[in-house]
Amino acid sequence: MSAAETKAPFVHKDDSQLRQKRMIAEHFTRLARAPQTGEKCVYTFVPGNLTELVRSFDLLPVLPEINALQSGMRGKSREYISIAEKLGHSEDVCTYVKCDLGMLRSGNIGPTGEKLPDPDLLLLSYTGCFTFMKWFEILRQEYDCPVAMLHVPYQGEGRITEAMRRYVVEQLRREIIPALERVSGRRYDEDRLRQMLALSARAEDDLVPVLQSARNRPSPIDAYFGGVYYLGPIFTAFRGTAEAVEYYRALRGEVEQRLCEGRGPVTPDGEIEEERFRIVVEGPPNWTSFREFWKMFTDEGAVVVASTYTKVGGVYDFGFRHDPSRPLETLAEYCMGCYTNLNLPDRVGMLCRYLEEYAADGLLVNSIKSCNSFSAGQLMMLREVESRSGKPAGFIESDLVDPRYFSAANIKNRLESYFQMIEQKRRKASA
Ligand code: SF4
Repeated sequence: MSAAETKAPFVHKDDSQLRQKRMIAEHFTRLARAPQTGEKCVYTFVPGNLTELVRSFDLLPVLPEINALQSGMRGKSREYISIAEKLGHSEDVCTYVKCDLGMLRSGNIGPTGEKLPDPDLLLLSYTGCFTFMKWFEILRQEYDCPVAMLHVPYQGEGRITEAMRRYVVEQLRREIIPALERVSGRRYDEDRLRQMLALSARAEDDLVPVLQSARNRPSPIDAYFGGVYYLGPIFTAFRGTAEAVEYYRALRGEVEQRLCEGRGPVTPDGEIEEERFRIVVEGPPNWTSFREFWKMFTDEGAVVVASTYTKVGGVYDFGFRHDPSRPLETLAEYCMGCYTNLNLPDRVGMLCRYLEEYAADGLLVNSIKSCNSFSAGQLMMLREVESRSGKPAGFIESDLVDPRYFSAANIKNRLESYFQMIEQKRRKASA
C-alpha cells in the first residue's frame, strides 16, 4: 500500500496524482516541524490502523511500512538493510523492519528528505502478522515513549462474532483511548470521531467505484501498480479528513472519464492501448524496481484488474464502510476485516471471486521472500484457486525492499511464459 506518490515515476500526472503528492508532502512537512510546533505523533501500522481515532486527538500518524517502501523506491533500502544486518538482524528478517531500522540509524530522514519526529506513542494494532509485534519491541528499545497494543482477534473461523467485536471495543475503551488521552492531553471526543468516520465513509464510497471500474473491458485502471497510488491516502494518514474526500471524488471523476472514453490505464510509460491479458495478483509489489516490474506487464499488454494487496488496509469492495453511528464498533470491525487478518480459505475465496467478477484470464502470485506471514500458504492457495476456477496461475518471487532479491531476467522470463500459457489456453478454448 502506498504513499508512493512522493517518488512518482509517471511522466503524465492527473490532477488526483498532483493532489495526492501535495497532501503527502504537506503531511511530512508537518511531521518534520512537529518538534517546533509541539504536535505529537503516533507510530502505527497500516493494517488495522486507527487513523480517525488518532487524528480525533489531533495526533499525527507515522507509518513505518510506508517509510520503508518509500526508501525502497528512492534507492535507499539496500544501504539501510545492510546497516540493520551489521547490527545482527538476520537475512530472513522482514526487510521492511531492517529498512526502517537502518533509516532510523541513519538519521530517520523520511521520504521527502526531512527528518521524521520521534514517536510520542507506539500504537500497535496487531492484525495477523507477528513481525509487527517484534518490530515495535525493537522500536521500544530505541525510543523513550509509551506503547499501546490493540489485540485484534484473527478471523480463524472466517467471521466476526459479537464476542470478538466486544473484545476489541473493550480494549479501545480501556487501553487505547486512555493512552491517546495521556499523550495528547485531550479528552476523547466521540462527536468528533463520528464526524471523521462520516468523512471516511464518503471517501470509501468514491474509492470502491474506482476499484470496480476494472470490471470493464478495457479496464481504465491498473488495480495493482496503479492501485497502490489510489490507496495511498486512505491507507495512510488521511482517512477521516476532508482532503481524502476531495482526493477520492477527483480520482473517481478522472477514472469515470477514462471509462467513458474507452481508454486503458495510465502507466509510467504511457497509456496501455491494447489490453491483452487481465490478471489478478496476490502479494505485494516489489518496490526497489517498481517501474521496471510494472513495465514487464505493460510491454505485454497485461493489466491487473484486481489485487489482494490493495486490501491490506481494508476490504471496502465487499461492502465494509466506517459507520459513524457505531464509532468504536465500526473501528473494531475495520481492524478485524483487513486482508491481513483473514484466514487462508477466505483469501482463496476472495481470489476466486475476483477472477470471476473481473473476468480475469488468470492469477499471478508474487511471493515475497522476507514476508513469512503472507508467503506461507500461497502455493496451496494457488493450486486451490487454479482447481476451482480452471484458470491458469503463475508464481514469481521477489522481495519488498531488498534489491538483492529482485532478479529482473528471471521474473521477466517467468512472466512471459505465464502470458504464453494464457494465450495457449485461449487458442485451445477457441479451437
Ligand atoms: S512480515 Fe510481511 S506482513 Fe509482517 S510486517 Fe513484514 S511485510 Fe508486513
